[in-house]
Amino acid sequence: MAAKRDYYEILGVPRIAAQEEIKKSYRQLAMKYHPDRNPGNKEAEEKFKEAAEAYEVLGNEEKRRRYDQFGHEGMRGTDFRGFTDINDIFSAFSDIFSGAFGGGVFDDFFGNSSGRDRRPAHAPGSDLKVRLKLTLEEIGTGVEKKLKIKKWQTCSACGGSGGRGPGGKTTCPTCHGAGETRHVTRSVFGQFVNIGRCQQCNGEGSIIGNPCPVCNAEGRTQGEETVKVTIPAGVADGNYLTLRGQGNAGRRGAPPGDLIIIIEEEKHPHFIRDGNNIVYDLLISFPEAALGTEIEVPTLTGRSRLKIEPGTQAGKVLRMRDKGIPQLSAYGRGDQLVRIQIWVPSRLNSREKDLLKELERSELVKPSDRDRVSHAQRSTSSRVKDTSS
Ligand SMILES: [Zn+2]
Ligand SMILES: [Zn+2]
Repeated sequence: MAAKRDYYEILGVPRIAAQEEIKKSYRQLAMKYHPDRNPGNKEAEEKFKEAAEAYEVLGNEEKRRRYDQFGHEGMRGTDFRGFTDINDIFSAFSDIFSGAFGGGVFDDFFGNSSGRDRRPAHAPGSDLKVRLKLTLEEIGTGVEKKLKIKKWQTCSACGGSGGRGPGGKTTCPTCHGAGETRHVTRSVFGQFVNIGRCQQCNGEGSIIGNPCPVCNAEGRTQGEETVKVTIPAGVADGNYLTLRGQGNAGRRGAPPGDLIIIIEEEKHPHFIRDGNNIVYDLLISFPEAALGTEIEVPTLTGRSRLKIEPGTQAGKVLRMRDKGIPQLSAYGRGDQLVRIQIWVPSRLNSREKDLLKELERSELVKPSDRDRVSHAQRSTSSRVKDTSS
């Protein structure tokens, strides 16, 4: 394979070109080498693809930065793919080809009035969306799931062609596989070329002579498939994963759609998620709060001991470092925040009542006026903090 040409050179723009300039230059090249203007010209087709590839990179700020920094090497391992099929170019840059900006250059040149449909004749399979419920524990560790998916699958009897045996599917004799026909008309203004979808094959370029009996010439059948999917730790409700090509199979060998898995977070019986932190309300007794203790609390990864200092007030938040949810695709994780609640008993026997009455007479178990003031100040300021965050 020949060495790749520089993308800026292909588009004929300086390295400091603004996005508008790049877009404009690409549009001009695409017009010049458009297959409709250069029928059967292989060199023009290559130039058309080359320009599209250059524009896919330079027309995207992030890809352009990578390219500026690392050159062609930098495009490895990204979703950058280049183009093998001309139809992909039309759908990738539909804004350019439909004339959504710049006033529809192609509509003017190639006559939208001819009713040409630029979609590939073989409709690709549709995307499938699946909701996946996860517990907070599963989100905390990441999880591998097996999902049963009902979907269109490539027909195994005909391999997706839709035809049975040799001669089951043949090239359309009218359009010779192009899927479109051209009509030339002459008038006083010159020669007009009208391009239309081939009537005999409905634009598919091929004809089913002997339909596959299993799929009824569809090239696909309804089936069920088990898909294994790995969910990374730290996902959140509404996040989604796209499994390329795992959606519905296309008709008669057309490319498949994607499988999109949408994450749904199940409500947890005693944890509340706050970003990557886990909030847990811990109920302790008045003696525990006053005397201090060590207590076992649940966390996402099992029970863990927590020290309660003597004199801990209700509403105090204790932080258990790194007991929260890991950051999605980054290092570090959130904390577990334990909010202290003091439990007040509602049923007491007479001995307990006597003990409490005796305690009640002690000055130190009652809040002083000063305690009341400082508590009010604390709770006001913490409420302000809550609403501002
Ligand atoms: Zn079949
Ligand atoms: Zn045809």
